[in-house]
Amino acid sequence: MKYPKIALHYQILLALVLGAIFGAYFKVDQSALIVNHSHEKNDIETKVEDWSSISFVDSSNPDSVLVKFDKFNQQAIIRFFKKYANQSNLLIQIEHDNGKQSTINTIQSIKKKPTIATRLKPIGDLFIRLLSFLAIPLVISSLIIGASSLEDIKKLGRIGTKTFTLYLATTAIAITIGLVLANVIQPGEKIHEDTKERLMAAYSEESSEKIVSNLEVDIIDFLVNIVPKNPFEAIATGNMLQIVFFAVFFGLMLTFIKKENAQPVIGFFSGMSDVMVKMVDFIMLMAPFGVFALIAATVADFGFEIISTLVWYIFAVLLGLALQTLLIYPTILKIFTKRKIKDFFVGIRDAQIIAFSTSSSAATLPITMECVEDNLKVPKRISGFVLPLGATINMDGTALYQGVAAVFIAQVYGIDLSITDQLTIVLTAVLASIGTAPVPGVGIIMLVMILQSVHIPPQGIALILGVDRILDMARTISNISGDAAVAVAISDSEK
Ligand code: ASP
Repeated sequence: MKYPKIALHYQILLALVLGAIFGAYFKVDQSALIVNHSHEKNDIETKVEDWSSISFVDSSNPDSVLVKFDKFNQQAIIRFFKKYANQSNLLIQIEHDNGKQSTINTIQSIKKKPTIATRLKPIGDLFIRLLSFLAIPLVISSLIIGASSLEDIKKLGRIGTKTFTLYLATTAIAITIGLVLANVIQPGEKIHEDTKERLMAAYSEESSEKIVSNLEVDIIDFLVNIVPKNPFEAIATGNMLQIVFFAVFFGLMLTFIKKENAQPVIGFFSGMSDVMVKMVDFIMLMAPFGVFALIAATVADFGFEIISTLVWYIFAVLLGLALQTLLIYPTILKIFTKRKIKDFFVGIRDAQIIAFSTSSSAATLPITMECVEDNLKVPKRISGFVLPLGATINMDGTALYQGVAAVFIAQVYGIDLSITDQLTIVLTAVLASIGTAPVPGVGIIMLVMILQSVHIPPQGIALILGVDRILDMARTISNISGDAAVAVAISDSEK
């Protein structure tokens, strides 16, 4: 029997929609907990479902309650246990809905109750890993080929300057949009005091972890660190900026050595680049399954209740991202190219869906490169330089979100931000978005640095942690669309 063939991008889109429906149907129970513990040397699994509060007690001092959690603090309970379980012997006292009490001790683990949707997650993880491992070899080979095919340093300098300028400009515009929207919509004024307390209590553990891992960015250090001490270390640790530096330098110097020596090296890297591209094609056959699994698991695990409490904040971020993606990028294309805007968006839609599903510009990079080269006909020597650089330093969606988030948190705390403060936010957010690694959830860690620069309590990120995952998915779309738009603009302006 012959089945009608659906084009791959429709399959991926369908997988996205079906994955969301599947995940919503097989949602994870937002209060139930699975507690593994031992009793007389037997391992037991207890389902705790009908509870109204859970208290953690140190078993060496059973009278003092360390902390008490109310219903819907499932995530906080799991985190608390993970963090303190190896420091003391914890037991939990459960207050049940029917008024009864029970105690569980010698606990080994506390987890959410999985559903078929969350069990699919490994398929999604496999897909992300397959894409991620391609990124570095692809970047190295295409950059070396790209740089060695540029005839002179002047040309590289010109393309480099244009690329940097456009990346900085789009990021500054993005953050300004974020600040303006947050000031106009005022999401922080529209949040109730008790909602604030609930969110702070539920996410304080998680926010303190992020604050500890905050990295200070010093501009001089940052520039010095672009040069790797050891290129293999840069490759092994996935430091994109260092890899870009090494590969461009290497490619460029290839043009200065004897032709008969350069040729085999160039041949080797073009073969490598071809293999990587073939691998992308092959891995993309799995994309519908990967996307389905990722979206299903994320939707199933996501507590939708929190959306209603932060609806204005989410609205401000999404509106900003939509403006950036649907207004600013088309304007750039209008200025630098003669292309139809529709062709651009049709050309990069696969990359946008993968960005949304994986929340990672780095994992999406191979697809972004393929879309930009094959569909938008940008020559390899330009896309190979502009896109890896963009995935590393150009994060418009992230910067925009950081602008909204900073003002939102300030509003909730009743802190007035002066114009100078807001300009400081623009500057630090541009730097932070350069320093943000292109992987899920890093944007919020860099937000801590921005908050500190204008003296907003960084603990405030607890307010927005619950919705970070969906906003991360959305901002990654803008991040990669911005890279693609700049690649097209540079390519057409070089013609
Ligand atoms: N997930 C984003 C990216 O990879 C970075 C972030 O905003 O957390 O592009």
